[in-house]
Amino acid sequence: MENDKILCIMARTISSFKLEDALGKAYDQQSLSKEEIVFLLSLKEEGEVKQLFHVARSLRQRYFGDKIFLYGFIYFSTYCRNYCTFCSYRAPNKLCQRYRKTEGEIMEAAQSLAESGVHLIDLTMGEDPFYYLKDNGFKSLVELVGRVKVETGLPAMVSPGVVPKQVLIDLADIGVDWYACYQETHNQQLFRWLRPNQNYESRLEEKYFARQSGLLVEEGILAGVGESQIDIATSMHAMQDMGAHQVRVMSFIPQRGSPMGDWLSPPRIQEMIIIAVLRLLFPDRLIPASLDIDGVRGLQERLKAGANVVTSLIPPHAGLAGVAQASLNVDDGCRTVKAVLPVLEEVGLRAAKVEDYGRWIKNEKDELVKKDI
Ligand code: SF4
Repeated sequence: MENDKILCIMARTISSFKLEDALGKAYDQQSLSKEEIVFLLSLKEEGEVKQLFHVARSLRQRYFGDKIFLYGFIYFSTYCRNYCTFCSYRAPNKLCQRYRKTEGEIMEAAQSLAESGVHLIDLTMGEDPFYYLKDNGFKSLVELVGRVKVETGLPAMVSPGVVPKQVLIDLADIGVDWYACYQETHNQQLFRWLRPNQNYESRLEEKYFARQSGLLVEEGILAGVGESQIDIATSMHAMQDMGAHQVRVMSFIPQRGSPMGDWLSPPRIQEMIIIAVLRLLFPDRLIPASLDIDGVRGLQERLKAGANVVTSLIPPHAGLAGVAQASLNVDDGCRTVKAVLPVLEEVGLRAAKVEDYGRWIKNEKDELVKKDI
């Protein structure tokens, strides 16, 4: 009852908002309330959505000009101990592409991505028992990431799931740049359904600890998994509180053999609006346009909504999978720098130089150290 009352007051407040006022505030980089965020997320009329995208692009231009960053992706182990309801790689699923790459295979893929012109190597795994249970498993993980960083000369992001705190310290000590770990939602009830038997607080806390340890942090949400617009607004504020350096949204894609296998993927406009609102709230942060949902065909619309990083570039014919779309555009070579560059050009954008990205990372890491002092 109390909840209904809050929603009712919120709806009345939201109906009194004007688009120009909310966009004007965002353009002037004033903070937006939860109600204002919900108002923007609720836009339906095409002209209004275009205005939102326009302001999002102006803010991107203010901080990044026409430069876009490109991330190479290596999903080096698809084994996982968890039972996430939305994921193909959940422990009991026999219908997914299951593999664990050797160090040699990972190094080869990393070199090939580096030579293709990516700005960062993202090393991702499920919570693979090999690393979690094996003696010294995390030691070998840290060494592996260190080797990728040294041999490619590129910044590295690691997405290993929730790991012991010492692993984050060790990663930071060897100069790893990013820790990515997605909450998917900041509605705790929904979290429990999406990530059964996982601890909401520890997952969230891990990112605060990573940041304190000197790692840049990526947080992310899933769209179309039963969340409300208030939940999305709550997530956006949680990302701000955390001081996330990269903020991601991805549309849910149903996975064969998972409990949500017969759910529908949400209309894409929802993801685009979330990207644009993220840009209003995080004008100088990184926001991915992931190739992992609609492949290269979906890249333009994400860039037009204000994204500034192309993620999930995968070397073809290396036996590597994507996450939500395991094989889409992988072996046909469309998730490569070569395939993406003409798309950037079509929308008046271009790939940044490796040095541009290095500078951005350095500034942000220096800021972390200053805050620590
Ligand atoms: S989302 Fe990640 S943690 Fe959850 S089942 Fe999939 S790979 Fe494992």
